[in-house]
Amino acid sequence: MSEAPYHDRDGWIWKNGEFVPWRDASVHVLTHGLHYASTVFEGERAYDGSIFLSRDHSERLHKSARLMGFELPYSVDELERAKQETVNKSGLGSAYVRAFAWRGSEKMGVSAQTNKINVAIAAWHWGDYFPDKMKGIRLMMAPWTRPAPHTAPCQAKAAGLYMICTLSKHAAENAGFQDALMLDWRGQIAEATGANIFFVQDGVLHTPTPDSFLNGLTRQTVIKLARARGIEVVERAIWPNELANFSEVFLTGSAAEITPVSEIAGMKFKPGHVTEALLSDFSTATRRKNAA
Ligand code: PMP
Repeated sequence: MSEAPYHDRDGWIWKNGEFVPWRDASVHVLTHGLHYASTVFEGERAYDGSIFLSRDHSERLHKSARLMGFELPYSVDELERAKQETVNKSGLGSAYVRAFAWRGSEKMGVSAQTNKINVAIAAWHWGDYFPDKMKGIRLMMAPWTRPAPHTAPCQAKAAGLYMICTLSKHAAENAGFQDALMLDWRGQIAEATGANIFFVQDGVLHTPTPDSFLNGLTRQTVIKLARARGIEVVERAIWPNELANFSEVFLTGSAAEITPVSEIAGMKFKPGHVTEALLSDFSTATRRKNAA
């Protein structure tokens, strides 16, 4: 049974300060964000009605906007209230929350200095990002590489940076994999198309230094949880020829949460003690009331 398309659902979407019926939350086709990717967004999850790391996400949305050369017309506190109201109004305990901002349709062309900045927030039920994720997902090597930091604002969660992610994810899916592993411009391992990556070698956690991709909030949480358990964590350059040395691999992200990886381009991995311990700690952390 296929799900209803996103434009044809019941509910409410917060748009520029008020709730509008879900089906009416549209933009004009001549919108700068649509043509020139002047859009930033957040992906978050609410657990038991409360958004995990909500404030960090709101702050990152502001940071992404600034990196794209614009200021959001709503403060972090205002976003916090609006996101929580959106979750409350959805009636969902567990929800995926998408807060986003884009340049409007006042002017067309590359320059958009005075275009209105629009902000919207939607929440919906989204189960596991990868179906059957606990079986472990299979990754293909991506046909595209992450751009060098001087070629794109790589610390922004900006729509334009997802062009190569969708291309890579489609290539992987078309070849029978669930996702793609992207290298950076130097050939080092970077991340998957919408999640960071971790490796285990002899009980030690290794993860690439986030110098050309998003330093994910889930990534930062997992590093803290691992260290709190006494697991050593090493952030460093990781090269593809090291893959054979690793015993466990997993992805982290707000949507992906912690997703075990069973294969990368023919090399097999199995979730073990480290992945299982972190899955359990992450589940405890997200289900704790995170009102702080
Ligand atoms: N990298 C990319 C490309 C992503 O889209 C995401 C998801 N936002 C992440 C990493 C993980 O970030 P976070 O843990 O903050 O969701």
